[in-house]
Amino acid sequence: MDVGGEQQARALNSLSFDESSSVISKNSRYVAGGVNSNFRLGMAPGPLVFKRGEGAYLFDVDGNRLIDYYCGMGAMVLGHSPAGVQAAVKAQVDEGILFAGQSEVEFEAARMICERIPSAQRIRFGSSGSEVAQAAMRLARAATGRSKIIKFEGHYHGWFDNVLWSTAPALADAGPAEAPVPVGGSRGQSRLDLEDLVILGWNDLAALEARVSKGDIAAVMMEPAMCNQGAISPAPGYLEGAQAICRKHGTLLVFDEVITGFRLGRGGAQERFGVTPDISLFAKAIANGFPVAAIVGRADLIDMFATGGVLHGGTFNAQPVAMAATVATQAALTPEHYEKSSVFGVRLREGMREELAAAGIKAQVTGFELMFHVAFGLDAPAKTYRDLARADKAGYARFTLALLKQGVRALERGAWFVSSEHNDDVVDQTLAAVRIAAREVA
Ligand code: PLP
Repeated sequence: MDVGGEQQARALNSLSFDESSSVISKNSRYVAGGVNSNFRLGMAPGPLVFKRGEGAYLFDVDGNRLIDYYCGMGAMVLGHSPAGVQAAVKAQVDEGILFAGQSEVEFEAARMICERIPSAQRIRFGSSGSEVAQAAMRLARAATGRSKIIKFEGHYHGWFDNVLWSTAPALADAGPAEAPVPVGGSRGQSRLDLEDLVILGWNDLAALEARVSKGDIAAVMMEPAMCNQGAISPAPGYLEGAQAICRKHGTLLVFDEVITGFRLGRGGAQERFGVTPDISLFAKAIANGFPVAAIVGRADLIDMFATGGVLHGGTFNAQPVAMAATVATQAALTPEHYEKSSVFGVRLREGMREELAAAGIKAQVTGFELMFHVAFGLDAPAKTYRDLARADKAGYARFTLALLKQGVRALERGAWFVSSEHNDDVVDQTLAAVRIAAREVA
């Protein structure tokens, strides 16, 4: 550990977030809870208010400079405010914002995505991951003439009623592992949607085969590596097996690559694991923070939006400014980008493991180069959502609060997102803060 880094972290000791808290309480008279997404609620010491982002850092209204590992919930794969994306966006703003028609920049973005994603014979753009997940289910139903969709416990496909089931169920409510009981994620959800949804445990080929073989499943939708509730890789042969089962029974395989896309590699999890689904979904890192999503896949399927009577719409789809951000982001996502940022990510992941062990904290650090997950209190790396659900969440939340006071912002739910801006110096500062925070909570 670099002594300078440690001193710097100590000097930051116990940052205050009082101004954020005052701005939130003043503005809660306008904005419900002071936030515009429920996922921004509930993290100690409360929602923060930011002024600016640059590289690996966010600057808040209290004057704190925080090393950011939320990275826009995974979107900022190039870090905050990368010059190339900023310039492209500014230039497009001068040309026009929304044409309700086509633009050359959207075709350039489409070409780049199709050339780098193995399953992308065709593409349609949307504005959020939740929305393209809906498009995928509609398309699968139209293509197969069946209505049921399989989703997996612990996997998240957006906040809409028909998929917000068993995303993070309490074990007490979730029933037996071999026959999970669907658990809703919100009050007010329609239970009618459950008619068409089947919940299974992930990474279990026998359970998948048993259900898909009944012949009534339109699509099996999954995160090809589970990155929402933790970081769990597919078991060897699982993705291949799932694909074979789907093909045998006329079911479509859908990979939700909203997190894994452009993060597990330029071609996503599908390239990394060598399994090409029928349909896949991208959002988050596709445009480094601009609201862009995509549904891609087999030409005969995606073309159903054009000629098969399947409706896909959206006022903001392929909005030119967001498309300019997509082109600039994709241009920056070179093989060298992944090589360089992976070195930082692996240093951080391994350093984290060592620091937590040195502080005597039982922790599992699992995952990939640019996204990994830390869980306290587990004896072995989680293989399923149910293993993860047994982690010491309260202990980990104390750790993230201690880290925040040392100037490092990491998600309470355990995910760490790394960008190309998290360089050696940033990793040194982070590990110094981890050392202090770990000893504080051990
Ligand atoms: N799918 C996955 C795997 C996600 O992680 C998310 C968001 O976190 C979504 C879908 C929904 O995307 P959005 O928040 O853009 O609607």
